[in-house]
Amino acid sequence: MTIDPRPGLSGVHPDDLAAWVAAQGQPAFRARQIADAIWKDGGVTSSAAILTLPTPLRDALDADFRLDTVDDTELRLGDGGATEKSLHRLSDGQLIESVLMHYPARAGSRERHTLCISSQAGCAVGCPFCATGELGFGRDLETAEIVDQVRHAARRLAANGQRLTNIVFMGMGEPLLNLDRVLAAVEALNDPARFGLGARHITVSTSGVVPGIRRLTALGPQFTLAVSLHAARDALRDVLVPLNRRWPVAEVVAAAREHARATGRRISYEYTMIGGVNDTDADADALVESLRGDHAHVNLIPMNPVAHTPWQASPMPVIEAFAATLRDAGISTTIRRNRGQEVGAACGQLAAERAGEPAPPVVARRRERLVMASAAALRGDRSDEPVPAGIVGASGEQG
Ligand code: SAH
Ligand code: SF4
Repeated sequence: MTIDPRPGLSGVHPDDLAAWVAAQGQPAFRARQIADAIWKDGGVTSSAAILTLPTPLRDALDADFRLDTVDDTELRLGDGGATEKSLHRLSDGQLIESVLMHYPARAGSRERHTLCISSQAGCAVGCPFCATGELGFGRDLETAEIVDQVRHAARRLAANGQRLTNIVFMGMGEPLLNLDRVLAAVEALNDPARFGLGARHITVSTSGVVPGIRRLTALGPQFTLAVSLHAARDALRDVLVPLNRRWPVAEVVAAAREHARATGRRISYEYTMIGGVNDTDADADALVESLRGDHAHVNLIPMNPVAHTPWQASPMPVIEAFAATLRDAGISTTIRRNRGQEVGAACGQLAAERAGEPAPPVVARRRERLVMASAAALRGDRSDEPVPAGIVGASGEQG
């Protein structure tokens, strides 16, 4: 299957839309009418629904653009309706996921509706505890394919008189390896004339693509940056986040520190707690050493169960003791309850299910390799495996 060559309309820059309208010989206000139709309450999914436009202009829109790029979507509910997981099939058959999570109002905080979105189909980084990592890399998403996940959720919320309050790029893919499209999507989501969500309500999570972090630092604050650390010792992080072999812990933390200094915004570190692997006293001490004195926050996340790993979440008392070590050292730390396990909300799980079960010997070899690699890492031996294909040369380094 080949990708539909027509760009998604929601990814078209307003200047380009204005130029297109002019080229159709139409007055400038038509561009405003089209934009209103795309963005209001999540927007329309077909040109036929833009009643303000003359029919020939609707036909011209259809000829040149797709009104929705995630139209083939399957929905699964979990957590008693508090989690809605969408599996989107793209025009070339690639599968991606987004997850909408509803949080009720509590003392001191208003009701929240947070959407977790994907930036790539699959991921080249290959973290072994992540379902997307096991799938491997499919392709980069187009700007509209990123934005349309948001419009899809916004429409469902609008039907209940609700609005999206937060967006996190914590779905499938490594956003900083598709940075141009992610930045264009964030601009659209942020722009008051388009989706209009404040930059503080948008979080992009990276596994530590250092040149991408530096590029963001140069641009100034666009959104909140979260860094997936998962280990502060290189030997272990080489196994858990394979791009560590290219950008090791000290470089990632230094880039994050510089980003915090330049933007005045606190860095958030994600740390998935894996029982007996990265939750030892030595790991807590190493994390304290790495982050001491930084303007940082650590989120400890019990590992979501994922097929084909030999690992499980750390027990809660271990997570609490780990958190206490960090807090005693003055590092602000929270333990995050994971959501949506029953619908496979660690993104990539539904798509992995669709990809089919690998042969049992392949699964057994993968488990064995991970047991040996993490045991070697705990002894402090650095892995001699190569940097994952797809990371070499894909540095995101620009200007
Ligand atoms: N590629 C980016 C963003 C997507 S992953 C990144 O890695 O940061 C979003 C977050 O989910 C990351 O912190 C990732 O490590 C975490 N994650 C992946 N699989 C998980 C699992 N099985 N349990 C808990 N967290 C997981
Ligand atoms: Fe990719 Fe993030 Fe999954 Fe690692 S955790 S494989 S970087 S999506």
